[in-house]
Amino acid sequence: MRVLVWGENVHETRDERVRRIYPDGMHEHIAAALRGLVPAADVRTATLQQPEHGLAAEALGGADVLVWWSHIAADDVADEVAERVRREVLGGMGLVVLHSAHLSKPFRLLMGTSCNLRWREDEDRELIWTVDPGHPIARGVPSPISLDRHEMYGEVFDIPAPDELVFISNFSGGEVFRSGCCFRRGAGRIFYFSPGHETVGVYHHPSIQRVLANAVSWAAAPRVELVELRESTWSPSGWYEGART
Ligand code: ZN
Repeated sequence: MRVLVWGENVHETRDERVRRIYPDGMHEHIAAALRGLVPAADVRTATLQQPEHGLAAEALGGADVLVWWSHIAADDVADEVAERVRREVLGGMGLVVLHSAHLSKPFRLLMGTSCNLRWREDEDRELIWTVDPGHPIARGVPSPISLDRHEMYGEVFDIPAPDELVFISNFSGGEVFRSGCCFRRGAGRIFYFSPGHETVGVYHHPSIQRVLANAVSWAAAPRVELVELRESTWSPSGWYEGART
């Protein structure tokens, strides 16, 4: 299995708090966790700052799963790169979308909705409850996972109804949130997982790492040949004219 972990890599370079938690960047931290938990995986990393954001056609074509964390620089991703990611997902590449990447271009393209949500950066405790214990992404994950302090993400989360819902979270403020959602688009599998605010070390949590490892294993699916959709030559008036003669 080939996994590409993509990080925006901006908070890590600007914010000392984030650098202390993730000295090599969040993407390198997540990649190291995946290497430990999925030994068979070939895990690589890429960042926004690289040419084509490290997401040239060869890099994406060689990935079974793309893991994506972004936040303040989400709109700096080139439209053609976001579109390339969308097409690769339709062709079978898995996509694991983390935390604030709910507003990333590829995720919004694939969902077709605003993907907005309610949020509050405070001292909330988050409990992540498994609602589908038979799901492969929930395997070996305790329920609930308790995060002592995390940013609140709350409903309404403007996404299409997920094809499978694996986790919901509740917060000490009383809010609830669909925190682990599966979608299928074309031949591709997409998993959105909300934990991962940059100033709390969520990706150090062993159960969160277990979810990430399960998610990349679930999202890796065989590629298919993309069939180009051609513009239809059919038109109502043409049919009517044809029917008359
Ligand atoms: Zn956040």
